[in-house]
Amino acid sequence: MSHIFGPVPSRRLGLSLGVDLVPVKTCSYDCLYCQVGRTTGKILDPEAFVPVRTITEELEEKLEKIAPDTITLSGSGEPTLYSPMAQLISSIKQITDIRIAILTNGSLFWNEEVRAGVLEAQIIAPTLSTVFEETYRAIHRPHADIELGMIIEGLKALRRDFRGFIFLEVVLLAGFNDSAREIEGLKQVIEEISPDRIQLNTVVRPPADSRALSLDTVRLEEIKNFFGDKAEIIADIPPEQRSQVFESYEDTILETARRRPMRAVDLANVLDLPLEDVEGLLEGLIGKGDLSVTGHGEETYYSALQ
Ligand code: SF4
Repeated sequence: MSHIFGPVPSRRLGLSLGVDLVPVKTCSYDCLYCQVGRTTGKILDPEAFVPVRTITEELEEKLEKIAPDTITLSGSGEPTLYSPMAQLISSIKQITDIRIAILTNGSLFWNEEVRAGVLEAQIIAPTLSTVFEETYRAIHRPHADIELGMIIEGLKALRRDFRGFIFLEVVLLAGFNDSAREIEGLKQVIEEISPDRIQLNTVVRPPADSRALSLDTVRLEEIKNFFGDKAEIIADIPPEQRSQVFESYEDTILETARRRPMRAVDLANVLDLPLEDVEGLLEGLIGKGDLSVTGHGEETYYSALQ
């Protein structure tokens, strides 16, 4: 089974090619809002679940066909539980210049080895949703050996050591962490952590636990304004970002069709999009004069004109 998935249009990272580093469902948390399902392996000690070489070979093959904006280390659990992380990042950098992001729950940065492993990524997007232990336990159902104080100190240490961008995600759930006390406490601690961006999220797809309820847009806006300039809502793709995602798809089609003529069905596979969506994008690109069409046998092939 491949460890590479997508590319998918990401609210935070443009066209994102995912790399799955841990087996389903291995995590230090078991969040109410998890979309992967309940955690079956709740662990704290990183492991080499799959050889670095396997991942880089699969990645290299995929990158022959597409040009994503970001290679995103994430997947079916917590990616920082992958022990050869530093070696993986360095190997990816030997095959491509595409930026590397890590989507993490941020629960392991108190561990110096885990912290050292991620330093060469360009973006780290950890989660911090509350500064109160009881809320933390209710939302994330963490491994018994971790406490919220360790997580917060770990995030501060990450900020100290890491030179890239930190996009701190706050997952807001109605009735759990949306009160004035919660939001005021979070603001203070987030200022101490000093991320580059504060990204407010809520539940947008069916979660693992039906008690995880989304926040309405009015309250999300209020919280964003309270957090200040660095804050943004990422809970839905805003219209201006939608057009960026759309352009990313077009760029990927052109990039791919520049290397070799492609059929619509191949592009649908590469982009993970329904065939009719790809046909719509192809028509648009032909209309703009960016693509040419040739028939070969019963197949239709698309080539980039520049
Ligand atoms: S940290 Fe992520 S993968 Fe782990 S349980 Fe929470 S949402 Fe799911």
